Amino acid sequence: MPFELKLAGQTHEGELAFGVAWPRSGRDSPGFGWSVDASTALKLLEAIKDGHLEAEQAQQILTDLISQAGELVDESRRIDWAYARCFGDCDLCMRRKAKYEGYVAKYSAWAQAWEAAGASPDRYPFAMTKSTVHRSDCGIVTPAPYSLQHKPIDLRTFAHIEGDVMVGALPSTRHETHVWMSERTGPKGGRNYRLCKTCSPEIDDGR
Ligand SMILES: [Zn+2]
Ligand SMILES: [Zn+2]
Repeated sequence: MPFELKLAGQTHEGELAFGVAWPRSGRDSPGFGWSVDASTALKLLEAIKDGHLEAEQAQQILTDLISQAGELVDESRRIDWAYARCFGDCDLCMRRKAKYEGYVAKYSAWAQAWEAAGASPDRYPFAMTKSTVHRSDCGIVTPAPYSLQHKPIDLRTFAHIEGDVMVGALPSTRHETHVWMSERTGPKGGRNYRLCKTCSPEIDDGR
């Protein structure tokens, strides 16, 4: 956001920006989230040094600029200030930390399992979602290669934005698949699971 200042009889053109830098140490200070170009800062200091401006006036100039521009930002973007001021250390993050650690453990188990499945697909022929058995090469369950390279999201994103993060289906050996199916089979043989219609997994009886 460009602006003009009259300083010592001269017009100075400056630039105010929002959301470029969020320095942690400034999170409780007025002006957090805002950046002013360095030439403006130097001009203001120079004007103070040369006696054209009082320090309070310079402070007021910046405060006014930010509050005028701030109204525009408030209208156009709804800022989640709790998130902006958090560096993974707020009360919400602390409350969700144990859950987050569970997610990280699940995530790395998931990524490792798919890497193992990629290395020896014959060992892991199947993959189950909550209630469906797939072949492990079914497009519905196979993670895209890049998603295995990703790191789990950070605590701050987990706590403030993502809420509950689901980790996808795990590839399974023949034996694990049979155990899973028998756990979901009633005493009279009723099945509490489905076989995917897209990949039609062929499962023997496990013997
Ligand atoms: Zn937080
Ligand atoms: Zn499938």
